[in-house]
Amino acid sequence: MIVMNENYLQLQASYLFSDIAKRVTAFQDNNPDRDVIRLGIGDVTRALPAACIAALHAAVDEMAEDASFRGYGPELGYDFLRQAVAEHDFQARGIDIAADEVFISDGAKCDSGNFQELFAPDTRIAVPDPVYPVYVDTNVMAGRSTGWQDGRYQGLVYLESTQANNYIPAPPKDKVDAIYLCFPNNPTGSMVTKDQLRPWVDYAREHQALILYDAAYVEFIRDASLPQSIYELEGAKEVAVEFRSFSKTAGFTGTRCAYTIVPRQCQVYDSQGTAHPLHGLWDRRQSTKFNGVSYPVQRAAEAVYSPDGKRQVRELSDYYMANAALIRQTMSGLGYACVGGEHAPYVWIKANTDSWQFFDLLLNKAGVVCTPGAGFGKCGEGYARISAFNSRQNVETALERVGAALSSA
Ligand SMILES: *Cc1c(COP(=O)(O)O)cnc(C)c1O
Repeated sequence: MIVMNENYLQLQASYLFSDIAKRVTAFQDNNPDRDVIRLGIGDVTRALPAACIAALHAAVDEMAEDASFRGYGPELGYDFLRQAVAEHDFQARGIDIAADEVFISDGAKCDSGNFQELFAPDTRIAVPDPVYPVYVDTNVMAGRSTGWQDGRYQGLVYLESTQANNYIPAPPKDKVDAIYLCFPNNPTGSMVTKDQLRPWVDYAREHQALILYDAAYVEFIRDASLPQSIYELEGAKEVAVEFRSFSKTAGFTGTRCAYTIVPRQCQVYDSQGTAHPLHGLWDRRQSTKFNGVSYPVQRAAEAVYSPDGKRQVRELSDYYMANAALIRQTMSGLGYACVGGEHAPYVWIKANTDSWQFFDLLLNKAGVVCTPGAGFGKCGEGYARISAFNSRQNVETALERVGAALSSA
C-alpha cells in the first residue's frame, strides 16, 4: 500500500483566488456591460525589456547550430550570470558576495519553498502574518505543524505585522530557529530600515538561528538609505540567506529566473552542535534535484545588467511605482489609512470593514478587483491589497471609479 504524506491533509485549501474569480464572474454575469479592472494580481503586466528580448533571440540562435548548441548546463547557473549578479547586485554596492555564493534558479517561490528541506523536522519556524503563503505551506507539508486551529497552524510562530508596529514585526519572545522575512513586503508593501532589521540579525546570531530573507521586490526601493540586501548589515552573512528574483524586477514571471545567495560563512548545526556550512548543503540539494535554468533565459537575465538593460528595468519599475503613488494618494485622500506603495508595488489599505465586504464594495460599486487581506493571514483581516501591476490608463480609470463609489458609500 502506498501511504500518503499525511501532512498534506493538514493543508487548508486556499479559496482566495477562486473566491475572487467566482465573485467577479457573478458580477460580470449580472452586469455584462461593465468592464472590470483587476488590481488584485501579483503578476506583472508589461513586456520584457528590449535588451532581454535581444539576448533571448541571440541565445536561441546559438541553440540552432551544433557549434554553439548547449545541452545540460551547470545546475547552479552559468558563470556569466553568477558573476554578473555578484558584481552588479552586490559588489557594486559594497557588499562582498562572490559569484560562487550565487545559486541561479527558476524561481524565488521554489527556492523559498525548498530551502526548509535542509532543516531538521523539529525546527521551530517563524513566519510573517500577513504572509506570502509559500513559507507556511511548505513547512506544513514537511510536518512542522501539529494542526490547524483558530485560523493558524499550530507549531508555527506568527510574526504579526499590524498598524501598532508599523507593519514591521520585532523578534519574538519565543525561541525560533528559522525566520522568514520579506522586504519590501508582499502583501503589505512595507519596507524595513537598517535599524529595524538589526535586531533580527542580532537575534539570529544570539540564537544560532537562520534568517530566510525574501528580497524579490528590491528593485522597487526608492530610498538609497534603506537596505537593498540583508548583507548590508554587519554580521548577516553568518546567519542569513537571501532570495531574489527577476520576476517582479524585470518582468520574468513567465520566463522564469531567480537566484538565492548562500554565503560561505553561513552555518547550520548538527544535533551535536557541530557547525556545517549551509552552502555545501544547498549546493548538494540543487545539484541533485535541479537541472538549472535554460541557457537562453540565463542570457536574457544577464542582459538586465547591461547599460540598456539597467535603464529599461528602471523604466519598468518607475512605471509601476507611479501607479502605486496614484493608488496611495487617492486612497489616502479618501480617508483610508495606507502603507506601502513607496518602495513596493502594493498598497495595503485599512478597509474599516471586513476584507470581503470591502472587496464586494469595490467590485459592485466600482467594478474594481482588489485582494482581500484576510487571504494572507489573520492579521490581514480588515485590510485589502491593491496592486500597481496594470496599465496607467486602467489604474487611473479604476481610481476615478473607486473615488466616486467610496465618497458616496
Ligand atoms: C512574486 C514573489 C516571489 C517571486 O517568485 P518567483 O518564483 O521568482 O516568480 C517571491 N517572493 C514573493 C514574496 C513574491 O511575491
